[in-house]
Amino acid sequence: MAGVDFVDVRKSFGAFPVIKGVNIEIEDGEFVILVGPSGCGKSTLLRMLAGLENISAGEIRIGDKVVNALPPKDRDIAMVFQNYALYPHMTVADNMAFSLMLNGSSKAEIDKRVGIAAGILGLTKLLDRYPRQLSGGQRQRVAMGRAIVRDPQVFLFDEPLSNLDAKLRVAMRAEIKELHQRLKTTTVYVTHDQIEAMTMADKIVVMHDGIVEQIGAPLDLYDSPANLFVAGFIGSPAMNMIKGRLDPQNPNSFIAADGMALPVARPPSAARGRDLIYGLRPEYMALDPNGFAVTVAVIEPTGYETQLIVRFGGTDVTCVFRERVTARPGEAIHLSIDADHVHLFDAETGVRLI
Ligand code: ATP
Repeated sequence: MAGVDFVDVRKSFGAFPVIKGVNIEIEDGEFVILVGPSGCGKSTLLRMLAGLENISAGEIRIGDKVVNALPPKDRDIAMVFQNYALYPHMTVADNMAFSLMLNGSSKAEIDKRVGIAAGILGLTKLLDRYPRQLSGGQRQRVAMGRAIVRDPQVFLFDEPLSNLDAKLRVAMRAEIKELHQRLKTTTVYVTHDQIEAMTMADKIVVMHDGIVEQIGAPLDLYDSPANLFVAGFIGSPAMNMIKGRLDPQNPNSFIAADGMALPVARPPSAARGRDLIYGLRPEYMALDPNGFAVTVAVIEPTGYETQLIVRFGGTDVTCVFRERVTARPGEAIHLSIDADHVHLFDAETGVRLI
């Protein structure tokens, strides 16, 4: 096993820069997820680590070796792709054994490694089947098995769950996480799905437009996003964002675009006199008979919780309550805000002030 370092890595396709100076330190054994919207450059970064794409500037290290000029086969990594890339004319066992056969491992060694990987992944009874005789989840497991048998220093995953239906995705998420807990192989995983990132990663790298916006543990990003981009990207339903300014007479009061006053527990001095965004996660509002009245626009009960869209502060605001709510659209409910969990962002720079 080995850590991975990206040091001021840059990449341009022709004159078009897509990776604009990225620094990421990945510890030995860590599960790191690169996440960001489509086109932000996360797959390019992974492909550069795999050696499938060259680097325009900077350095990539695996362990203490600079791998910039090393061909993929000499990097001691194994990659699992979105489309699994299984050989259709080979059995599960042969698909898993293929790379070991290429490097000249003995039959005994191959059988042993394939047997162990099949056991870990629950594929033992499927070893004689062909890919077309497998479900999507089983195919994904074979693709992982092919990576495991090589016992590489680093696993790379490129959106491995995006071809699976929602239920299977949730199940495979847990399987991959368990696999990592068992093997403890350094893992770099790319997805555009922030829930996948939140639930699986030791550390998340949030990317946007070729740069790293923030790196941190999932709940640290959730509780302390560096800026508006991260705040809006991490969390589902998303953080509510309300435009306005602090009341010059009373900095504990935020005046929204529609004139409504919202509470601020610890107003920072940097927020005074500036255009701000009031960031309010959906769970930090409560039904409160002494609170302010809002009109319900949409109500979505899931059984476990109730999600509501209400209108105040000049925008639609999503709230999530653990209790069941009987109000209908058009009716009023009364809310209070947990001011201790409110964020303020500088509207111009996007930087979080509290
Ligand atoms: P997605 O989630 O859609 O896969 P991504 O974050 O993985 O997106 P990349 O595939 O890394 O994004 O692409 C980053 C940018 O680089 C995009 O603007 C893309 O169009 C561009 N790009 C990727 N590969 C090439 C290429 N071979 N030639 C030119 N431009 C490319």
